[in-house]
Amino acid sequence: MRSMSEQRNALVVGGGISGASAAIELARRGFETKIVEREPVWHALGSGITLMGPALRALNRMGVLERCFENGVGVDEFRICAPDSEVVEVIPLPPPEPGLPGMLGMTRPELHRILGEYADEQGVEVKLGAFVADFENGPDGVRVTLSDGEEGIYDLLVAADGFRSATRAALVGEIEPVFRRQGVFRAVLPRPAEADAAFYFVGPAASGLTLIGVDSLYMYCDVPAASAERPAQEDLPGLMRGHLTHLSGMAGELRDQIEDPAKVDYRPMETLLLPAPTYRGRVVVIGDAAHTTTPQLASGGAMCLEDSIALAEELARADSIDVGLERYSERRFGRCEFVVEASARLSALQMDPADADGSRFTEAMGSSVAVLAQEF
Ligand SMILES: Cc1cc2nc3c(=O)[nH]c(=O)nc-3n(C[C@H](O)[C@H](O)[C@H](O)COP(=O)(O)OP(=O)(O)OC[C@H]3O[C@@H](n4cnc5c(N)ncnc54)[C@H](O)[C@@H]3O)c2cc1C
Repeated sequence: MRSMSEQRNALVVGGGISGASAAIELARRGFETKIVEREPVWHALGSGITLMGPALRALNRMGVLERCFENGVGVDEFRICAPDSEVVEVIPLPPPEPGLPGMLGMTRPELHRILGEYADEQGVEVKLGAFVADFENGPDGVRVTLSDGEEGIYDLLVAADGFRSATRAALVGEIEPVFRRQGVFRAVLPRPAEADAAFYFVGPAASGLTLIGVDSLYMYCDVPAASAERPAQEDLPGLMRGHLTHLSGMAGELRDQIEDPAKVDYRPMETLLLPAPTYRGRVVVIGDAAHTTTPQLASGGAMCLEDSIALAEELARADSIDVGLERYSERRFGRCEFVVEASARLSALQMDPADADGSRFTEAMGSSVAVLAQEF
């Protein structure tokens, strides 16, 4: 085993929000760090992302928040509206730290570009078009063989390979996701002038707006779903509009602009939680690979960023990687479990006819946001 005075090395599997941020944080704490990403081109799929207070706090600690602000739109309030777009309640979004807005919207490719460039500045090596073919925990670290035959021994292997993580499956076996009987549509649309905050429209299909650029926003719509099947791409605009017929005013006008299938996305809502401990030997599972949540709290990405910071902090504080991983798992599990369960409760409330006016949903949202505002 290497002495603690030698530079430690880490291999991160997956280059999404979790993998990129973990590689950055480990490199900042002195690890020689490499990402192995399955895709031959390193890019982010998807339209926009809502970064709530905890995500902004994490990005700030990583040192990339300013770059995110330059490429996103900050807002300070969340407007709850009736289906006719009349505002019925304004929920202030408290800044996670003085001087920050409460929420930032941006495109996923921009966030990915910023994290990728920052990883490069921290000296992170990125290997594309490869995956981990085999790994084994041993006394001297984790022996890893990549799909192209490259072999190495790493002090730490970080599984950040997402919801369907092959690394997690090899480590602890298959975990069956829970389908929440809901799906989410998202459409990128031109931003009207009056869309100057985050909006939520109460209704049979809960919907809302997130600003992602000076001229653009995405409209989302959470709908009941009988199965986890995805409809054909060309059918998505018509299906999404069909779920939003109750809207009028600004929201109705936006609905009528949902036409281009290339700008509409649909995902079934599935959750997954890897029970603690979230590591075995020197292999640790982070991000969606360990905890996949439904999007109501818009906190999946925040948990990925927090995981990365906590992992690097605990490893830096501990005398050994083994102790660092134990403390990491203890520190993170409860909070990530809370996000998965609170989001699932919000998902169930959206489909509960007894909460047609959204009052219980709004209350549950407020109390969950307050919990997440606490230090992680
Ligand atoms: C509809 C929807 C809306 C959401 N909205 C928000 C939001 O507004 N705000 C928010 O904070 N969160 C949101 N989330 C959650 C957030 O998107 C996720 O939590 C986050 O993107 C997960 O990042 P990740 O890096 O853990 O996983 P992923 O993004 O899945 O990345 C995994 C990476 O690993 C790679 N990979 C996979 N397998 C292998 C392998 N075997 N070897 C090498 N590489 C591999 C993949 O190509 C990918 O690049 C939303 C999620 C959904 C589904």
